[in-house]
Amino acid sequence: MAKAVGIDLGTTNSVIAIMEGGSPVVLENAEGERTTPSVVAFKGNEQLVGRVARRQAVLNAEGTVFEIKRFIGRRWDEVQEEVKRAPYKVVQGPDGGVRVDIAGKLYTPEEVSAMILRKLVDDASKKLGEKITKAVITVPAYFNNSQREATTNAGKIAGLDVLRIINEPTAAALAYGLDKKGDETVLVFDLGGGTFDVTVLEIGDGVFKVLSTAGDTRLGGSDMDQAIVTWLADEFKKESGGVDLRADRQALQRMIEAAEKAKMELSNLTETTISLPFIGLDPVSKTPLYLEKKLTRAKFEELIQPLLKRVRQPVEQALKDANLSAAQIQEVLLVGGATRVPAVQQIVKEVLGKEPNRTVNPDEVVALGAAVQAGVLTGSVEDVVLLDVTPLSLGVETKGSVSTVLIPRNTTVPTRRSETFTTADNNQPSVEIHVLQGERPMAGDNKSLGRFKLDGIPPMMAGMPQIEVTFDIDANGILHATAKEKSTGKEASITIQNTTTLSEQEIDRMVKEAEANAEADRKRRESADLKNSLDTARIQAERVMSEKQSTPEAKSRLEATIAKAHSLVNSDSSDAELRSATEELVSALQAYEQGVSASTTGGTGNSGQGGTGKPEDVIDADFKPAD
Ligand code: AMP
Repeated sequence: MAKAVGIDLGTTNSVIAIMEGGSPVVLENAEGERTTPSVVAFKGNEQLVGRVARRQAVLNAEGTVFEIKRFIGRRWDEVQEEVKRAPYKVVQGPDGGVRVDIAGKLYTPEEVSAMILRKLVDDASKKLGEKITKAVITVPAYFNNSQREATTNAGKIAGLDVLRIINEPTAAALAYGLDKKGDETVLVFDLGGGTFDVTVLEIGDGVFKVLSTAGDTRLGGSDMDQAIVTWLADEFKKESGGVDLRADRQALQRMIEAAEKAKMELSNLTETTISLPFIGLDPVSKTPLYLEKKLTRAKFEELIQPLLKRVRQPVEQALKDANLSAAQIQEVLLVGGATRVPAVQQIVKEVLGKEPNRTVNPDEVVALGAAVQAGVLTGSVEDVVLLDVTPLSLGVETKGSVSTVLIPRNTTVPTRRSETFTTADNNQPSVEIHVLQGERPMAGDNKSLGRFKLDGIPPMMAGMPQIEVTFDIDANGILHATAKEKSTGKEASITIQNTTTLSEQEIDRMVKEAEANAEADRKRRESADLKNSLDTARIQAERVMSEKQSTPEAKSRLEATIAKAHSLVNSDSSDAELRSATEELVSALQAYEQGVSASTTGGTGNSGQGGTGKPEDVIDADFKPAD
């Protein structure tokens, strides 16, 4: 079976790994780095991904997309906070979803995520020397149905066969527990760039059983950056007499970067200085403004207090749902870059009463675990069984706008549950099944995953029809719902696709566009390579010409081909033109070299005699003009 990779598609950074000789290993990207920033930049026709995209962000704030994971699978009305914070433009899509607007061209979050996936996979394919087509991709345990589906679709758009979507904390536990003997109860505390997950698992003899999971899909390291930005901007506003730097996208982007840097420094230092020269213009004097602020760890901890408070509740919830006390947890694994913040580690210690395990690399362990699962699914890893749970309850809306649960949260998946419902009115010809996800008792407070209709119910008194609703959650945590009227056997079903997930046709179109883009990218690279080799040949020819004299014919031929190379390299030339010019140049250069020896041995040439412009500068020591 073909090799399959594991991918941690992170809010801030992404990592790709594979099984090698029985152990998962991280694959470096083309830049030689083990993590790739989850950043995509659009520059004219060009798309940049990773470090290069991140590096040019300040100069191209509106064309650089960060943290797309915060938008994936979400509806426009759910992401108003995120929209305000993004330095790039985010608009409402035609379907109530979210689009990134790059100079008028709209991209779905799935497409942007696909660009990141493609970079990871292309680089890894090159590294391995074989094309990768299969992957396991991780998502926060707390991702809902549409976020999971959207992530699967991103994989499809990137041309991948997504073998499985697995939860990040579960993946971390897989990597951690792969070689463990004996039973252990583990709590994974995963605080990444944008999401927070807590998962409690039982590990023993290759069986990884998730007992419970809880979290917050809107809490992560970048909220800490944001807290710093708010403080910086507010302070600056006070001190500058009202200049709000947040209004300027470029200034905002610079502050976000500086805030993240300061936060990371404060994981090791107790004090740091944020300094941003020329951050804006004084509205009155029109002189440049300079932002310089000292930030101590204590002040930082004060700024992030509201965020730190929010990590407690999910930990307590996960313990309660697993029916365990903190003391029964044997190991605490820290996952995600934001767990490097000392105040976060402190909270973990306080809530769980023990030192976290420091043997796992919080940046890489999720991808490593995904690679293990990819190995399980392709047969290269044996004797590992993963039993995961659904993080949120799933149900239907029933009379009085009530949410009736079919599958409670923390049920082991895959699972299938049925329940029978009936009609509310006499001779009701159809029912609408409204599928809900969430823990709230009223339908309107939960996430609506979609609606579907079952019609053709034969005329019956209210309460008589028996309508069996079945929910089927697959191993990816994705729901398929069916409804069946028992007397007729008539069925209706949906694989949940609400407004935020893409239709098959849309995915198809995006796959094609992405492929076309990849093709265009490859062509651009090829043209660039052709130009490069022509230019290299030109430089070499110029050097030879400056060092050696040849016959006048050879010289004028070479000069002509050099001039042509010059103009082709500096204009929009076709690949064919570039190829033939390179060939011409190489052959003119060979003729020139032959002319050199001919004139050296007293042959036909007399180029040393003049006509070269400045022969004295270029004559080789052993060059003898023809007599
Ligand atoms: P992840 O999603 O796991 O890649 O986590 C990324 C988050 O971790 C980002 O918000 C980073 O700023 C943050 N992070 C990475 N390294 C550190 C560090 N040394 N101290 C504090 N936060 C960090």
